[in-house]
Amino acid sequence: MADVFTKQKRSQIMSANRSHGNKSTEWRLRARLVKAGLSGWRVNARDIVGNPDFVFDKEHVAVFVDGCFWHGCRKCHKFPVSNVKFWSEKIARNKRRDRAVNRNLRNNGWTVIRFWEHQLRTAPTLCVSKIQNMLEKQRNSTTERTTQFNTSPAA
Ligand SMILES: [Zn+2]
Repeated sequence: MADVFTKQKRSQIMSANRSHGNKSTEWRLRARLVKAGLSGWRVNARDIVGNPDFVFDKEHVAVFVDGCFWHGCRKCHKFPVSNVKFWSEKIARNKRRDRAVNRNLRNNGWTVIRFWEHQLRTAPTLCVSKIQNMLEKQRNSTTERTTQFNTSPAA
């Protein structure tokens, strides 16, 4: 995809989007998806609740890459030493918002997958196969619904 933003605009967008995984991590996942031959996805879906990092519209799967710091990853545990109250409130707010986004999307028929940024660094293959499995599952359940619909008695 061509970069349609100026350098300045791009850096504005990036700083506004810091609660998501950092850009290099996201690009790494993009490359993995391409390599795995997955298609039908788009990035930074502004039109979907919570602006997922990746969406598969057909299968209704939304993927978020959560920054370990901003979303309070316990494993990485990189909590700041100064302004502790400020940061812990901010992180708590992010986590509440994540849960609200999950609920909202699920209520609208989406399947939500969340990865920690560190998971993409340490286990990218696992992340991709999780996405693949979920897509497969969604495709099958779509087929089932269609079959049931087709075999129901004519009105
Ligand atoms: Zn982490």
